[in-house]
Amino acid sequence: MTRVFSGIKPTGHLTLGNYLGAMRQWAAVDQHRAEALFCIVDLHALTVDHDPARVRRLSRQAATLLLAAGLDPRLCTVFVQSHVDEHARLSYLLECVATDGEMRRMIQYKEKAAREQRRGGSVRLSLLTYPVLMAADILAYGADEVPVGDDQAQHVELTRDLAVRFNQRYGHTFVVPRATHPTVAARVMNLQDPTAKMGKSDDTGPGIVSLLDEPETVRKKVVRAVTDSGRDVVYDRESRPGVANLLEILAACSGGNPETLGGVYESYGALKRDTAEAVVEVLRPVQERHKELCADPGYVEGVLRDGAERARAMSRPTVDAAYRAIGL
Ligand code: ADP
Repeated sequence: MTRVFSGIKPTGHLTLGNYLGAMRQWAAVDQHRAEALFCIVDLHALTVDHDPARVRRLSRQAATLLLAAGLDPRLCTVFVQSHVDEHARLSYLLECVATDGEMRRMIQYKEKAAREQRRGGSVRLSLLTYPVLMAADILAYGADEVPVGDDQAQHVELTRDLAVRFNQRYGHTFVVPRATHPTVAARVMNLQDPTAKMGKSDDTGPGIVSLLDEPETVRKKVVRAVTDSGRDVVYDRESRPGVANLLEILAACSGGNPETLGGVYESYGALKRDTAEAVVEVLRPVQERHKELCADPGYVEGVLRDGAERARAMSRPTVDAAYRAIGL
């Protein structure tokens, strides 16, 4: 059976981008067709300035939201990265296979390191080595597929390179995985800056819809979304990024096609109103289930404990084999 691995970072409140671009497919498709593992990658949240209590709280919230979004622990494995030692164990071995130059070429590293420096902060070494830990996350489980948004394509490519290099040098140990990208909403953009991804780090921003935003907040954010000059509603990512983003969100929420929907609307106002309502409707069941799960913290705790146990059993043989192959 195909094995699928994907993760989510507890660096902020999960967004509509995370949901449409990742979580929804995990729940609707991946957990049914494959042996799937979904991980809250808390070690990755330590690569930039962080507050320990907040990381712990956000990890728990992310786990609860994954279950609220429909991940079913009877069908897939949901767990927290730091509960399973194999990730860090394997990451070190892969650091001995990766090169400094290859790490410095990662686009996300360049962007995030530049951001840290602009803020006057120092760049943590773990920000540089983060893609190696991500490679360990994937390779430890022998995953065949990694469903991720467009932004993660380069990291999965690196994971493939490391797997091939390790196998060639030390004997066949790892499955060489491939990235799969959603056909809709692979890149939901910020409502206030449609040239930037709707990322969760800046979670208080008016351009970011959080999965737990109240309907009124969602409506306000969508209605205030930046649109482009011009009046007619057409789907054109290059010259009309704001309108294109709204059409994509509407299409992803209502099941339509962004180009066709572009022909339906005569004003930006009507498009925004319908998009806001579509988002509210998509979030409603997730928020209801989230509320129920929050009332039963023992259940979430149990899911994570079982998930970690299963994940340990699945990853240990591969990581042990890698230790032997490399000469330890
Ligand atoms: P973030 O960039 O919000 O910190 P993560 O790195 O935790 O997100 O990514 C979790 C998953 O959500 C990944 O598969 C990522 O590609 C996807 N994702 C994140 N933001 C978006 C977005 N704005 N549009 C589509 N998919 C996204």
